[in-house]
Amino acid sequence: MEKTVRTRFAPSPTGFIHIGNLRTCLYAYLFAKQRNGTLILRIEDTDQERIVPGAVELIYSTLEKAGIVHDEGPDKDGGYGPYVQSERKAIYMEYAKKLIELGGAYYCFCTKERLESLTDENGVRTYDKHCLGLSKEEIEENLKNGVPFVIRQNIPKEGTGTYHDMIYGDISVDYSELEDNVLIKSDGMPTYNFANVVDDHLMKITHVIRGVEYLSSTPKYNLIYDAFGWERPEYMHLPPIMKDASHKLSKRYGDANFDDFVRKGFLTEAIVNYIALLGWCPKDNSEKMTMQELIEKFDTAGISKSGSIFDEAKMRWLNQQYIKELPFEKFMEYARPYFDQSIAKDKYDYEKLGKILCTRIEIFSEIPQKIAFLDEYGPFDTSLFEHAKSKTTAPLAKEILEKILPVYEEIGEWTNDNLFACSEAFAAANGYKKQQVFWAVRVAVAGRDVTPGGATELMDILGKNETLKRIKYALTLF
Ligand code: GLU
Repeated sequence: MEKTVRTRFAPSPTGFIHIGNLRTCLYAYLFAKQRNGTLILRIEDTDQERIVPGAVELIYSTLEKAGIVHDEGPDKDGGYGPYVQSERKAIYMEYAKKLIELGGAYYCFCTKERLESLTDENGVRTYDKHCLGLSKEEIEENLKNGVPFVIRQNIPKEGTGTYHDMIYGDISVDYSELEDNVLIKSDGMPTYNFANVVDDHLMKITHVIRGVEYLSSTPKYNLIYDAFGWERPEYMHLPPIMKDASHKLSKRYGDANFDDFVRKGFLTEAIVNYIALLGWCPKDNSEKMTMQELIEKFDTAGISKSGSIFDEAKMRWLNQQYIKELPFEKFMEYARPYFDQSIAKDKYDYEKLGKILCTRIEIFSEIPQKIAFLDEYGPFDTSLFEHAKSKTTAPLAKEILEKILPVYEEIGEWTNDNLFACSEAFAAANGYKKQQVFWAVRVAVAGRDVTPGGATELMDILGKNETLKRIKYALTLF
């Protein structure tokens, strides 16, 4: 019988949640949920110098916003805790000592100076296993005298480590390429190299899902599993996410993190949906998928080996699909703060604006710029009236505006429908193309040629007084 899947998301609390990390977490979640398995959240905080205050809270809030629900973690005990590595210090030390007894590791007392002397002309330092040669007595003496030490992994000088990766297939790495890395640092804290193995074993992780940067160091971890006689987990390494063909999206430069996209006005569902597609394509090529659909469709066969390029334009497109499906009330809930920050409250009808914008924006943060015409109206160049497609010229626009002004002045019921009908009738009666009239009026009332809605929609929002004022003003510009 297949074992119940237990996988984990193991972020280091070093700042924002990068899109790459979130994708790792999402795939682990999808993989586990599809199999009724368990997702464990483990906080990898052994590199104390890199910890950023507030980063742990950010991990929780990001998972929550993303709709990823872990089953075990620091806040949900499943009997395999503690789930925070810094709280497991004693456990690592105990296992490191066992590993020494088993020959898989050794104490190293080398000084900083000695280690520095091992650096070659290219700046590469390879540890020479010096301390592996220490006698039992020398080691005991050093320990008794409190000489600072680290514990290093004892990697065989020869041989090859092989394993099967669920994405990359059979992987072989010559041990001669690997180093006797530090497993326990001089402050007693473990390194990732050790903690990940001990924890994955003790937490009964069946599938290790993580970034491809760990692909070639995995044989080192396997040596530790083997030395203890522990069963190795299955491995799934995930391709990198690229900024372009040759650069990885990097966390260091803050290229792409979840909260930035939320702040930019992306819907969390759209972000999650998009990152699911970064490196994976479902069999049926679907693009827009709910979390439930992602769980059902996720398959490792659809994961590519090569890096996928982060395409913000595609994410914006996907976001628009989500925005279009929002119930209007919900749309207004998201849009309101953007209206509030960009235009005078109560001066314009938010609902009417919302009706225009809900099918026309890709992300919410476009709103201020889209509606800037409401409060920013001033001198503009009459060349904006020129429109080749409808054969509108500036003089023609002037003529139209002069003639249509009295028509609008007479309108009693200032509604979009009525304005539309009147403008159409005006065009027909005066031998203009409809498009010429709408173009001239739209540029006149907006003071620009790109607007979020049609001429009469804008006029409806501006109101009669303001519209007439603007048309009169536009006429002074010719
Ligand atoms: N703490 C590691 C990281 O953030 C986790 C890698 C893993 O999943 O094993 O990269």
